[in-house]
Amino acid sequence: MKEVILVKYGEMALKGLNKGTFEDVLFKQIKYRLRPLGRFVYSAAQSTIYIEPEEDTIRMEEVISRLQKVFGIATICRACVCEKDFADIQEKAVVYLKETMEDAASFKVEAKRADKSFPMKSPEICRELGGVLSEAFPSITVDVHNPEVTVMVDIRDSHAYVYAGKMRGAGGLPLGSSGKALLLLSGGIDSPVAGYMMAKRGIKCSCIHFVSPPYTSDRARLKVEQLCEKMTDYCGDMKFYCVPFTEIQEELKRRCPEEYFTILMRRLMMLIAQEIAKKDESLALITGESVGQVASQTIQAMVCTDAVCKMPVFRPCVGLDKTEIIEIARKIDTFEISIQPYEDCCTVFTPRHPKIRPQLDLIEKAQEQGHFEDMIRKAVEGTEVKTFRVVR
Ligand code: ATP
Ligand code: MG
Repeated sequence: MKEVILVKYGEMALKGLNKGTFEDVLFKQIKYRLRPLGRFVYSAAQSTIYIEPEEDTIRMEEVISRLQKVFGIATICRACVCEKDFADIQEKAVVYLKETMEDAASFKVEAKRADKSFPMKSPEICRELGGVLSEAFPSITVDVHNPEVTVMVDIRDSHAYVYAGKMRGAGGLPLGSSGKALLLLSGGIDSPVAGYMMAKRGIKCSCIHFVSPPYTSDRARLKVEQLCEKMTDYCGDMKFYCVPFTEIQEELKRRCPEEYFTILMRRLMMLIAQEIAKKDESLALITGESVGQVASQTIQAMVCTDAVCKMPVFRPCVGLDKTEIIEIARKIDTFEISIQPYEDCCTVFTPRHPKIRPQLDLIEKAQEQGHFEDMIRKAVEGTEVKTFRVVR
């Protein structure tokens, strides 16, 4: 039986003037993700996108699984395609809905008629099809107030569609509809989650990662690239910038007070990240910080890091507990990669007694003791770029 997928968008449907742009971006994203699976026919009407596979070999489960990772989609339904003829509708409905109807205790039918020339009106369609289904599945009863299953009949221009039940989409806004930002991606649990959360709000992310060979290994970098690749499932194609950070960390160690290492290192990361963001046309930075999680994530420490930032720094995990962050990391499948035990450049030079509540003026003085300007420029110049693509 021929099937079609109905994709409904959520919040973006409300966004008045921007709606057209949102729709275009969403359409593009969907087509891009599904293209490797085969050919589809697309159409759109009333906050719904209709996706019809053109080849029999296309696996619907795979289509759904990809669609569930596209931001901007509120719900996804699988429907059976019928002729615009009630006899065909009832015949197909009985076959197509068999499993659903046999598993449920109660149902009702709802009809939508975009094509007003269809000879039956909506209440009549509901009544008639309700009768047919009741007869075919005697174990299920009609309940118009609180049904377990709602059977939908959608009469459109070229065809009618019958379906029951819907799956939740990824929600949020279509990727790219809110612009672009640069994610500081470590190998840890938090930053991939932070990227996912901002991507959900329609932000296209690029990633920046700092390495300090030989203190950090190739294996550690590979782990971060693995994270980046995994993140494309939700975040789409991503640029990955890898910054050589060894010289700066050695200079820090040589010239600055040990208790300030972490905070100074974070300020230097921010300075470099902003240079890369400009090249990348990103308008903001994203980090995985959460208040109070570690010494460098107190409010005072954030004041000191943000003092060098001329662009907004988004910290979507800021109010989450570690357990909540882990829950999301598991959902987006980055958790298992993140817990691989490879060292990060942050952990290589961890001070024994970090300043938990640093004072900005003292931090600024400490930073002046190192000769960082040229080193920052060199680090930016020596940055390697790679692109990870969602379509594999
Ligand atoms: P995560 O789990 O994301 O590693 P964390 O709790 O370990 O976070 P920190 O190590 O203090 O916290 O890092 C705070 C944030 O700084 C990270 O979430 C990330 O955004 C950024 N960051 C830390 N190390 C790096 C790195 N080597 N490259 C890029 N960004 C980094
Ligand atoms: Mg970390």
